[in-house]
Amino acid sequence: MRKIAIVGGGFSGILLAVHLIRRTDSPVELIIIDRQQQFCKGIAYNTYSKKHILNVIASRMSAFQDQPDHFLDWMESRVESDSLPRSILGNTFVPRYLYAEYLGDIWNDALQLASKKGIRLGILDSFVSDLTSVNGEINLHLENNEIINVDYCVLATGNRLPAQLPFDPDSIAKSGNYFPDPWNEDVVNSCLDARHIAIAGNGLTMVDTVLGLKEAGYKGVIFTISPNGYNLLPHRHIGVRYELNQEQLNKCKTLAEHLNFFNRHFRRLKKAGFTSEPLIEALRPFTQEIWMKLNEAEKVIFLEKLKSKWDVGRHRIPAHIHDQIQILRESKQFVPYKGVISNIKPSEKGIEIHIRHKHHNKILHVSKVINCTGPSSRINPDGDGLLSKCLKKGILTQDFQFLGIQTDVDTYNVINSEGLRNERLFTLGPTLKGELWESIAVNELRVQAEKLAVILVKRLDP
Ligand SMILES: Cc1cc2nc3c(=O)[nH]c(=O)nc-3n(C[C@H](O)[C@H](O)[C@H](O)COP(=O)(O)OP(=O)(O)OC[C@H]3O[C@@H](n4cnc5c(N)ncnc54)[C@H](O)[C@@H]3O)c2cc1C
Repeated sequence: MRKIAIVGGGFSGILLAVHLIRRTDSPVELIIIDRQQQFCKGIAYNTYSKKHILNVIASRMSAFQDQPDHFLDWMESRVESDSLPRSILGNTFVPRYLYAEYLGDIWNDALQLASKKGIRLGILDSFVSDLTSVNGEINLHLENNEIINVDYCVLATGNRLPAQLPFDPDSIAKSGNYFPDPWNEDVVNSCLDARHIAIAGNGLTMVDTVLGLKEAGYKGVIFTISPNGYNLLPHRHIGVRYELNQEQLNKCKTLAEHLNFFNRHFRRLKKAGFTSEPLIEALRPFTQEIWMKLNEAEKVIFLEKLKSKWDVGRHRIPAHIHDQIQILRESKQFVPYKGVISNIKPSEKGIEIHIRHKHHNKILHVSKVINCTGPSSRINPDGDGLLSKCLKKGILTQDFQFLGIQTDVDTYNVINSEGLRNERLFTLGPTLKGELWESIAVNELRVQAEKLAVILVKRLDP
């Protein structure tokens, strides 16, 4: 019997397993490894607050591409839908804990099907600490020193912790006043008595953390710091569809041509009183294709000069959340700073944060620091995590901008340091950012999960 291991039980790992169970008729043992509290949730949906909501409206969160209303139908059957008319419910941002329950229900259906089909399932509450790939075999080393041997392995390891901030790791990190994992509930509970908190980052994770702190009754001041300052925009045109001329878009080959295309459409929308939101939504299905058309120099230009503008238009927050942050800002409980953190060190008053800005430098005095700079993509070859060890051994490589794992996007095979595809090792999800740029949201990952399942089923049943 062939064995397939999926490392990671978040959206990508679970949906891949669901499609494998649905499609295979071959004898197979499927092993999924993740910590129990993350299973069917991943980092994204294992949330500690009901105030943490999806950043995509309910009508666009189906786990299945061929059933676009799947999540909306599920939501409608829940008391939490408050019997809202479907047209409204579909345009709401549902709490993320409900999405975890949705994934749990999908998984329970898959479990029943697996048992009917005689598929062996192993759900391991563990973490993979190392991987060896020798003579066509994959060995996974678990944190309890157990080693499991499989025929195929899929890295569905998803979002990584934010990158390390610039400081001497021994001083602040060990003080208990620095929090490298913003998604952990303990962060909020450990910060409640602090008068001043600094949050590195001004994006969606920062918003979640601020909402979590306020919900838990935090009364002090929250400083936030990022190179572009606080510039999150509210959604303004939810559900507005903008039609693009696909033929014209396909004719664009270079970054400059795409930029002209974007600006031409944006000017039209602006004149009609719209933001870039409907245009960005209309472009989303094509962003992977556009990224793959760009050469390396164009990708660098995009990342250095255009990415931050794209991110502002792309990562919006619901208007009512935007209003809440605005109220905190007006009452001086939320104080955003624009600048780069150049150092963080202990001081008599707690922690000193040095902020560098082109016009003036500043030092902030706080008692706690939370790293909300977003999932990091660069893998440290000297780290002790699974991906670091694989990188060091040459089992995987990173793209030239360190955005993800080099992968053959047609087959999802990981490419090793000799430039060769590892026919037994696959990856999907946020690890494909270097290859595809947009490889983060449910509407991209659900497609990858299904395609990879088809590929694996062919391997099982040639
Ligand atoms: C806070 C947050 C909110 C988001 N909200 C939305 C949203 O509203 N809509 C949307 O479309 N997208 C959202 N996203 C994007 C999100 O990336 C995807 O929706 C999706 O959840 C990613 O799933 P994943 O399984 O690839 O990764 P993850 O959710 O990160 O899951 C990866 C899993 O792999 C496990 N893992 C990692 N390493 C190992 C190892 N060595 N051994 C065993 N297990 C391991 C982790 O424990 C984790 O459970 C959000 C992302 C974040 C971080």
